[in-house]
Formats: sequence, structure tokens, C-alpha cells
Amino acid sequence: MTVYAFPGQTDSLVTFKGRYEHYIGGEWVPPVKGQYFENITPVTGQAFCEIARGTAEDIEVALDAAHKAAPAWGKTSPAERAVILNKIADRMEANLEMIAVAETWDNGKAVRETLNADIPLAIDHFRYFAGAIRAQEGGLSQIDDDTVAYHFHEPLGVVGQIIPWNFPILMAVWKLAPALAAGNAIVLKPAEQTPASILVLFELIGDLLPPGVVNIVNGFGAEAGKPLASNKRIRKIAFTGETTTGRLIMQYASENIIPVTLELGGKSPNIFFDDVAAKDDAYFDKAKEGFTMFALNQGEVCTCPSRALIQESFADDFLDAVVARTELIKRGNPLDTDTMMGAQASNDQFEKIKSYLDIGRQEGAKVLTGGGVDDLGGDLAGGFYIQPTIFRGDNSMRIFQEEIFGPVVSATTFTDFDDAIRIANDTLYGLGAGVWSRDGNTAYRAGRAIEAGRVWVNNYHAYPAHAAFGGYKSSGIGRENHLMMLDHYQQTKNLLVSYSQNAQ
Ligand code: NAD
Repeated sequence: MTVYAFPGQTDSLVTFKGRYEHYIGGEWVPPVKGQYFENITPVTGQAFCEIARGTAEDIEVALDAAHKAAPAWGKTSPAERAVILNKIADRMEANLEMIAVAETWDNGKAVRETLNADIPLAIDHFRYFAGAIRAQEGGLSQIDDDTVAYHFHEPLGVVGQIIPWNFPILMAVWKLAPALAAGNAIVLKPAEQTPASILVLFELIGDLLPPGVVNIVNGFGAEAGKPLASNKRIRKIAFTGETTTGRLIMQYASENIIPVTLELGGKSPNIFFDDVAAKDDAYFDKAKEGFTMFALNQGEVCTCPSRALIQESFADDFLDAVVARTELIKRGNPLDTDTMMGAQASNDQFEKIKSYLDIGRQEGAKVLTGGGVDDLGGDLAGGFYIQPTIFRGDNSMRIFQEEIFGPVVSATTFTDFDDAIRIANDTLYGLGAGVWSRDGNTAYRAGRAIEAGRVWVNNYHAYPAHAAFGGYKSSGIGRENHLMMLDHYQQTKNLLVSYSQNAQ
């Protein structure tokens, strides 16, 4: 067990600056309008640094830098770009603990997750796209004996990226790594709740990239996000966040006729067929772990398995078992490696989840465990801690239909296969889903029948770089991860060449 010191204490691995500027053209650049906002750690609820408050003017400065850098960066060879991405990965790996502590402090999530998941996955993402870009090939069509159509991958140029607060570094890297590999220059806007860890990351790795290839403008959605997403000087906008914001992003993009990728919300079903319970064995334990994944990252995951669908015939027993398992989730100081669940990312999110705990009760759902806040006392007294909560109710309730984005799962029952699929698909969303069955045929058929871009079968919350991730329905457009992601950051140049010596 390790308990990392709080930033600000003498033996902390991280020293946050008192004030962070924008990162533009390889330098720290103050905001044009000279305004800053406070950044709060959810661990204690206290402000720990000031962040430049970006506006349209800062976005223009960042776009100037990106446009200056883009032509040369776009002409570098895939091998050169791969070398740089691998160097970034190596430097992150050498500073894993420092970055993990910074991420935990900024977002509130448990350091055991930032150490073992968020940051290692981000590192792997750079390595994956370093390899993917070198392995990418163009195409050639033989039109006739003397005519050839070559297909080249070309970068888009300057792209905009806007990310949320739930996985600040991983969401940034999911977007940065493929865009860089494909040869684009970038203006990125972090979420206003969690900019600091990304800025710490760029203090560490910024020198590895040519100036202007990645630019970071901080600030709020309406003030900095909109001027970026609606800007005529970007060739693409990539967005992760709420579905309502995603709609706006599409509207802005339509004005400029640029491609848009959207990773939006979810209300993912996690389906447990009754053969799960057949034996008291390792598989049953694995299924219980799969259920408790609703509390991973304090439930602030777009694919949170927030609806548990359990076959009626074994539901009471299964719920007893998962309640007992959930009550073992260790809560406490997020910087303690034994802690499994940390703080919600912001006070707004904390209040929103509490309101859903009330809504669930008012709707008549039964609280099987949790249902309130965790008062951890001491230094953590001002932090944003919620108990992992299991409701039992009905899929028509708001707690089953609306994204709570907290450690809250709403459980219900189904009678048979068709009923399970009907309930699973009775949602606006289609991002993730889980299927648990010992029977391969049942699991396969359910996986194919669920309207979601990612269905985990007999596992949950795995995010390998080489598996495509993205939404059906209102959960988004396009994919992240996997080499198919390169397509989202490239355009195809077709050179149609005649080698004929004859006049046509
Ligand atoms: P949000 O939409 O409020 O904010 C996301 C980002 O968009 C922030 O950087 C914000 O400043 C910016 N923004 C807000 N309004 C904007 C506007 N008008 N123009 C441009 N930018 C604007 O979302 P959030 O609350 O920060 O994030 C939580 C949401 O993200 C959840 O719905 C969650 O499901 C979703 N999410 C999805 C995925 C996925 O991969 N599908 C991953 C993580 C989170």
C-alpha cells in the first residue's frame, strides 16, 4: 500500500504551478483578455491553481500557430512521426507515478486506476498509433493497362478537439495520438473542470513535438469551445461530451462542411442470464465483478453499466450477492493505492448525482445499498464522495433512462432472451453493453442483437487500443481506438494517371 502525499505537501510527486497559461506554439501564452479561473481538486474541494480563461481571441492565436506548423508536420514521414510518438510514450512511462498523482488530484479518481489504467492506456495509445501509421498502406487501382488510380492518405491539416472531464488525459490522448500519427496539427480544449493534469503532461512532453503541432486553449464551452468548433480554420472537429452539446457541435460543423466525430453519452445495459448462477465458482465471481463495474471511475464513464438486467429466475439471489460485493468497495483517500473509489469530479456532478438519488426514491425504486454521500472527514471533508448505490426498479423510470454519470446502477429483471433485448434496446443511447452467460450461443446472439457499438461478453470496461469504440443511436458518430481511427483524421487523394503514349 502506498499513500501519495497531497500536491502542495513537501514530499508530493507533483508540483502544480499557481497559474497555468494556454500552451500555444510550444510556449506558455497568457490569455488575450487576461482572465483566469480557479481549478478545484475534488479530493478536498479546495482550489489549487488558476487556469487561463480562453476566448475566441485565444483560439485564433492557437489556430495561427497550428496553421504555421501544419504544412511541415504533414510532410514528415510516418517513421518520423512514429519515433516522436514512441518518445512521448517513453517519457510518460518514466513519469507514470507523477502523472497518475496529477490526474487523481485534478479529477478525484482513485490513484490505483490512474496508475494501472488511465495512464498506461494513454501510453499504449501513443505506441499503438506509432505502429499503426507505419503499417498503413495506400491503394492502387488498375483502371486499364495504361491507367492507374493511386490512393494516398493525406492529413486533414488543422483539426479541433474538445474533451470532457471524466478521463482528462486518456480522452486527450485518444484524440491526440491518431491525429498526430496521421500528420495533423491540433488545437485542443480540455474540460474546464480538469485542465491541470493535461497541462502538467505538456510541461513534460511538449518539447518532443515541433512547436505549434499541439496547442491547448483552456476555458469554458461557450467561451472557448464554441469559437473552436465553429471556426472556419479547422478541417475537422472531434468531440467527446454530452449528447446535447454534441448536437450543437454538429450544427457548427455543418456551417463549415467539415467532418465531425462525436463520442457522447450512454445508459449501458449489463445483462445477466440465469446460467451465470449455475455454479459457485470463478465465473460467478467474475460476473459479480462485472456487475460492480458500475462504480469504476465513480461511475463517471460514458459506458458505465448503469442498467443491470437480471433474469427473473435468479435475480433475488444474484442481487444479494452483488450487494455484498459492492459493500466491499473500499472508499477513502483517492491518493491511497488501496482505495477503489475516489471523489466525483466536480461539485456540480456531486449535486447532480445526489438529485438522482432523490429522483430514484421518489419514483419508487428500492435502494438495495448506498443511496447517500460518504462523509470521509479530515482533509477529505470538503471532497465530493458518493456511496456506490444499487437501485431496484423499472426500465421506464428516469434513473433507467437518463445518464446519471455516478456510481449508481439501476437493476431490473427480464423473463427471457427477447425480453432482455427489448429492455436493453429501450434507450436513446447505444454506446456500451455487457452480456454475461456461460452459453456461447446465447452470448453471441445477445451481443449481435443489442444496438450498441461495443458489447463486452463475459467481461466489462476493457479498452484495448486495437478494438473499435463508439456509439450507435444518440451515443455518437464515428469510432475511436483501432487503426480505423486514422480514417477519421485523413482524407484520400486520388491521383488518376495515364501512362499511355497515345492521344485519347
Ligand atoms: P459537456 O458536453 O458538458 O462538455 C464536454 C466539453 O465540451 C467540455 O470541454 C466543454 O467545455 C465543451 N463544451 C460545452 N459546451 C460547448 C459548446 N457549446 N461548444 C463547444 N464546446 C462546448 O460534457 P461533460 O459533462 O464534460 O462530459 C460528460 C459527458 O461526456 C457524458 O455525457 C459522457 O457520457 C460523455 N462521455 C462520452 C465518452 C465517449 O467516448 N462516448 C467518453 C467520456 C465521456
